[in-house]
Amino acid sequence: MEKREECGVFGIYSFRKDEVSLPVYNGLIAIQHRGQDSAGIATFDGRTIHLKKGMGLTSEVISEDDLLALKGSVGIGSVRYPTVGTSSLRDAQPFKVDLPREGITLAHNGNLVNFVALKDELARGGTPLLSQCDSEIILKVLADELNRTEDIFLAVSKLMKRLEGAYCEVVLTGRGELIAFRDPHGFRPLCFGRNDDCMIFASESVALDINDVELTEQVKPGEVILVTEKGVERRLVAKSSRRHCMFEYVYFSRPDSILDAGSVYDSRVRLGMNLAKSHPAKADVVVPVPDTSRPAAEGFSRESGVRIEEGLIKNRYIMRTFIMPEQRIRDEAIKKKLNPLKTILKGKRVVVIDDSIVRGTTTNKLVKLLKDAGAKEVHVRITCPPIISPCFYGVDISSHSELIGFRCNGNVEEIRKILGADSLGYQTIDGLVDAIGIGKENLCMACLNEDYPTPGAAKIAKEMKKKSSEEMKEKKRYWEL
Ligand code: SF4
Repeated sequence: MEKREECGVFGIYSFRKDEVSLPVYNGLIAIQHRGQDSAGIATFDGRTIHLKKGMGLTSEVISEDDLLALKGSVGIGSVRYPTVGTSSLRDAQPFKVDLPREGITLAHNGNLVNFVALKDELARGGTPLLSQCDSEIILKVLADELNRTEDIFLAVSKLMKRLEGAYCEVVLTGRGELIAFRDPHGFRPLCFGRNDDCMIFASESVALDINDVELTEQVKPGEVILVTEKGVERRLVAKSSRRHCMFEYVYFSRPDSILDAGSVYDSRVRLGMNLAKSHPAKADVVVPVPDTSRPAAEGFSRESGVRIEEGLIKNRYIMRTFIMPEQRIRDEAIKKKLNPLKTILKGKRVVVIDDSIVRGTTTNKLVKLLKDAGAKEVHVRITCPPIISPCFYGVDISSHSELIGFRCNGNVEEIRKILGADSLGYQTIDGLVDAIGIGKENLCMACLNEDYPTPGAAKIAKEMKKKSSEEMKEKKRYWEL
């Protein structure tokens, strides 16, 4: 519950030439959990690309008047949390260039590993960047390739050779084309639904549900899908090597979404069941940390026979804790966000289920909150194995030294003491792989096992680890870092 979100994208092509601004808006509302920093919508009305973007939630950025002004039957949208770039309007998506193809607008989800090298390369070629955002880089590289060829599939295949990292893109052109593509590893999710009326692309299937469009399938890693007046064309333009982010199943995606491995809800229930098998606890009650951990707590309860209760009540009307930048604000925020139910907790042995531990500071506060509410014992069970290494593919886990798993060298007993829990049990890697159910060869678990699917990320992680280890040697206590 300490992590930060990535981004969400949405794209729609109406075959019946219906206005699409409202379906885009609804789709963005459905995937708002993927980013609350900024939002934006672009549409094409046959002549002009209309664009509205701004800071804040979709409902704060896009007004009813905006929806009326965003004319057109093809559209894309974005909700963003900055893993690269800054929290400013300059970096809000979608990004737009006026040429080629009478204009290109792009919404991006993911993170580029070779951001700096590409930025330098573009600057040397006379294409300076206006933002600090990797979305602009992808757009400029795409524009560069589309300046050389009219063939969109060829252009994206060349682009895929130049980019390293995670990227799911939806692109709208001034010729009324809608393009969607996914990086060859398929780190981030991208699916589509198609019927006689329209075709929709979205980061998660919940954005299709809200528009009453059935999920057709997932965009394949390395695949490009082009939707035009002539119809729909699909091509694999890069050799794919699936490595879906395990965190989408553990935490990011909505439980009612269907990803490459199937139902997120089912995976989370299995995560809880596997956790109960590997790390049982003598307890009176199982308490989920709302909201992500509910299905896993249900699974833990089913497997262990210990009843599940809502011992922590979430205040839905405060800002999410992890979008507040400073630790001090985060510490205060947990009390505002979660209120313990004393009647459930008093005198009980409590198993509290959470999805992951990043820094450890939130979990530490959580244990204290439960004990202050009268819990006799607090047994912490975590559905994700220990996070020991940063992510370079779009999840805001940026350095080794912030990770309690790394700082304590994976020593669970040491982490338990810091958290103040009576016992601590993490999911095993085998339990995680089993719960997701598509085989470890199809998953990225680099933040757990340092096996980075791309060479640039592996190199950066090695250098960062060396630096962090040296830094830690100089410090006596981890919290000085
Ligand atoms: S490093 Fe971790 S968070 Fe990042 S993509 Fe891989 S599994 Fe997901």
